[in-house]
Amino acid sequence: MSSNTDMNTKWAFSFTEGDGKNKKMLGGKGANLCEMTQFGLNVPPGFVISTEACLEYLDSKDNELPATVMEQVREQMIAVEKATGKGFGDVKNPLLVSVRSGSALSMPGMMDTILNLGLNSETLLGEIEQTGDARFGYDAYRRFIQLFGKVALDIDDEFFDKEFEAVKQDAHVREDVGLSADNLKEISERFLKVIEEQTGRPFPEDPYEQLEISIKAVFNSWSGKRAVDYRREFNITPDMANGTAVNICTMVFGNRGDDSGTGVAFTRNPGTGYNKLFGEYLVNAQGEDVVAGIRTPKQIAELADEMPEMARQLEQLRQNLEEHYCEVQDFEFTIERGILYCLQTRNGKMNAAAMVRTSVEMEEEGLITREEALLRVDPAILEQMLSPQLDPANKTKPLAQGLPASPGAACGHAVFDADRAETLGRDGGQRVILLREETKPEDIHGFFAAEGILTSRGGKTSHAAVVARSMGKPCVAGAEGVSVDSSKREAYVGDAVIKEGDLITIDGSSGNVYLGEISTVEPEFTPELEKLLEWADEVALLSVMANADTPDDAQRAVTYGARGIGLCRTERMFNSIERLPIVIKMIVAETSEERQAALDKLLPMQREDFKGLFKAMSPYPVTIRLLDPPIHEFLPSERQLMEDLENLYHLRRSVSGMDILAGTMALLHSPEEARREAEEMRGYIELHVVEEAIAKKEAMLQKVRVLYETNPMLGHRGVRLGITFPEIYAMQIRAVLEATAECAKEGIEIHPQVMVPQVCTAEELKHVKRSADSIRKDVEAAVGKEVDFHFGTMIEVVRACMRADSLAEEADFFSFGTNDLTQATFSFSREDAENKFLPMYNENDILQDNPFEVLDVKGVGKLMELAVKWGREVRPDLKVGICGEHGGHPASIKFCQEAGLNYVSCSAPRVPVARLAAAHAAMMK
Ligand code: PEP
Ligand code: MG
Repeated sequence: MSSNTDMNTKWAFSFTEGDGKNKKMLGGKGANLCEMTQFGLNVPPGFVISTEACLEYLDSKDNELPATVMEQVREQMIAVEKATGKGFGDVKNPLLVSVRSGSALSMPGMMDTILNLGLNSETLLGEIEQTGDARFGYDAYRRFIQLFGKVALDIDDEFFDKEFEAVKQDAHVREDVGLSADNLKEISERFLKVIEEQTGRPFPEDPYEQLEISIKAVFNSWSGKRAVDYRREFNITPDMANGTAVNICTMVFGNRGDDSGTGVAFTRNPGTGYNKLFGEYLVNAQGEDVVAGIRTPKQIAELADEMPEMARQLEQLRQNLEEHYCEVQDFEFTIERGILYCLQTRNGKMNAAAMVRTSVEMEEEGLITREEALLRVDPAILEQMLSPQLDPANKTKPLAQGLPASPGAACGHAVFDADRAETLGRDGGQRVILLREETKPEDIHGFFAAEGILTSRGGKTSHAAVVARSMGKPCVAGAEGVSVDSSKREAYVGDAVIKEGDLITIDGSSGNVYLGEISTVEPEFTPELEKLLEWADEVALLSVMANADTPDDAQRAVTYGARGIGLCRTERMFNSIERLPIVIKMIVAETSEERQAALDKLLPMQREDFKGLFKAMSPYPVTIRLLDPPIHEFLPSERQLMEDLENLYHLRRSVSGMDILAGTMALLHSPEEARREAEEMRGYIELHVVEEAIAKKEAMLQKVRVLYETNPMLGHRGVRLGITFPEIYAMQIRAVLEATAECAKEGIEIHPQVMVPQVCTAEELKHVKRSADSIRKDVEAAVGKEVDFHFGTMIEVVRACMRADSLAEEADFFSFGTNDLTQATFSFSREDAENKFLPMYNENDILQDNPFEVLDVKGVGKLMELAVKWGREVRPDLKVGICGEHGGHPASIKFCQEAGLNYVSCSAPRVPVARLAAAHAAMMK
């Protein structure tokens, strides 16, 4: 930027003038402070320095603020002085301010805050005189020096903590509140020395110098490791948030006595959505005491007894906030000598259950529209709502109890610091629970690696609770019965010891902590979720089906609201111990007759399977995919067979040895005795049994070798198999049609669809279709009625996309198998890529996403669009869907709608996600 623009750029905005809608420029916190001030809430005077100033500063070569920033800061400070009647640096009536970060997106605890700025050796005395409270003055001073030292001068907390503890010990004081003014004075003096020792310079006395250093420090924190890691983890890109603003706000004090206090609250319960003020407060305390969990706070309901007028005003504040923002707010307040101030507000981060409930209730209260209610819930978080809960039948007694800070149950090995959580959890693949006394922002990497968080101190709004909730991870906070010794990597509960690596289970919904592993159960649909999803179905254009292979799966899919089965992988029906030997017989058969005999046994089983699916899904369509996997998947491996044979050969030798032994006996004993003994020995194993087993295994080994393929996923599978062994597909088609006829006879409405996998040319489809038509005639003749079904193809190879027009001549419907289509388009093995090079590709931004999870719109998507277009040119009513994993992924679902698909199909637990995502896609059209 030229110095000209520099001179004219407005960097600093008073709360009374800043545009509350411009979060990009003022950060979320700053914009809300402006907005709250402007709609009449009691916010202490202050101003915001823009994110643009931050970016300019971080870009500058000499680490200097843009030239006019401090000029404008001075102007704004003068306005604040006017509004408060205090003076910045005034030794008689000093103005103290807080300096806080705040970017466009909330990044809880990621950057730092400095409080009580403006204090120095002289203004301190003025503050003491003004308040008449020396203890208060020194307390404010020592807090300021430590925060300034830590945040602005980068001095480790431990230097301050050591001095603090030393004074506490000398004074024989256990709790911080027991420290006298003199103790706090001594602490302040020691802290000043720490600053001088650590930086080689005295503590800056000039308030404007303090302010400038602090502004720079907050700006620098934007590019600090914590913030960078956080942005990377949550994919926060520069167009979402770029740079942090700095908020400078007049200090108000909650620690001015028993008519003062401070707290944090949500306008509704963020764990359940219940429409009641939810939060915690502390009397005679500063805000950081609540957030850091240093003192265990009181529930907000208690305020009504302790300070009834304040409770009434707080309730009014809650209403004002919700009416204005039409959104649940997470706000901070301070009461200074009977006056209530609102210091911050932001949209409340809630778990999935609370998001859903508040959406439905706020719509019903008329606060938001139905469309807003739907758009408010991110479809992906519904998966969290369907996350495991502790088995209600669990009778295990909890070892300890804490606060239910973030719902859901989790089990894992206890770890006592974030680095170990990363080593054992992220890198070692273990489930871990991070167990800490309290957590701090620098523990964030441990949160990412852990299944859940357990702390022994702090409340429901402590750092651990807020961060875990936003991540959807279970958290139990403030389990005071647990005492943690991080250095020994142990925790103690009464006589019990939890060592690193011990399995523990936490229940973030009840606050219970258990030793060992407790089983979990799938959660239930809440009535609110049902309602929200009904609303979603009303607006969605895509219909949502499920991938389900058994009647049980189908039943579950129905409860999740699936409108049919988009993919039944029939190969999954053959895995049971009763069926596998028959399937193996079918594969190793040497003649068609042998094969047919095995298929005749499988036919009634498959017919029952399909009937079960049809009944569970009636009246919606059920799509049966004909057998797909490489056939040798059903056979034992070559290595296994060779080992078995080795043992059998050995056994054969032993049995022959027994014969020799029996013969030899005759020489040693009487002939009768020898015969009897020989008979007895032979009674164990007969040689011919061993011979038969060997013959079977050898035949199998030979078959396995014949069927061996270097590249099975590109080999003899899908329709290729159906063409080389036509009896297999014929049996499956017959089973479908007979099941259809039987259901029709029972009066059950069904819509069967037969789907052919791995097709690359229309000839393959024609081949299978001819067989299907002749079986249909057969079945119709047998039952004396028409049997109707749809015939379609999967589109999962590139050539199928290119030949969509000719495929559409044969197929009533297409279903994109995007797992294979992604594999085929990228030539990435779907079995290996995700463990081998894909993470590296993602880390280096060679690919933005994992294409097996997020549909690659630019490549795979292009092929899909072409196939839809060409297919519909031939058959305008061609039904098109998707049944690869992408069918349950919200952004991919949006693409599917844009590409003109009719339905998506995904695993049952993702059906609710897909239903909501389909509604979002329709509304964002
Ligand atoms: C696919 O390839 O996307 C598909 C659904 O089939 P499968 O995963 O069974 O190969
Ligand atoms: Mg496939």
